[in-house]
Amino acid sequence: MANHAATCRIDDCDKHRAHHSTVCQTHRQRIRKWGDPHFTQWGTADMQDVELIVRERRPAEGLTRLERVLVARGLAEREVPAREVARIVGVNQRTVERWRAKDRKEAA
Ligand SMILES: [Zn+2]
Repeated sequence: MANHAATCRIDDCDKHRAHHSTVCQTHRQRIRKWGDPHFTQWGTADMQDVELIVRERRPAEGLTRLERVLVARGLAEREVPAREVARIVGVNQRTVERWRAKDRKEAA
């Protein structure tokens, strides 16, 4: 890495950080939200947030990957179209369809 000092100090994270911070914006948000930068995105979900987003179908930012998957699944159970799910969780439609295919495969 050419400019090591300007990247996030979290292991396995190459993202740039602001000069006044030791970590990137993603990790900063994670520390603010969870109090721990080492929470993996996969392992972490605030179920209250997930349920609220599913119920209100309100586009949300700053979700962890697990939260996105859980929101998408909750919306799918309510037969919300993939395109709408994509808009709410902030991913593209193909990602939603890939999650659905995976869920179907695991359910089979
Ligand atoms: Zn980072």
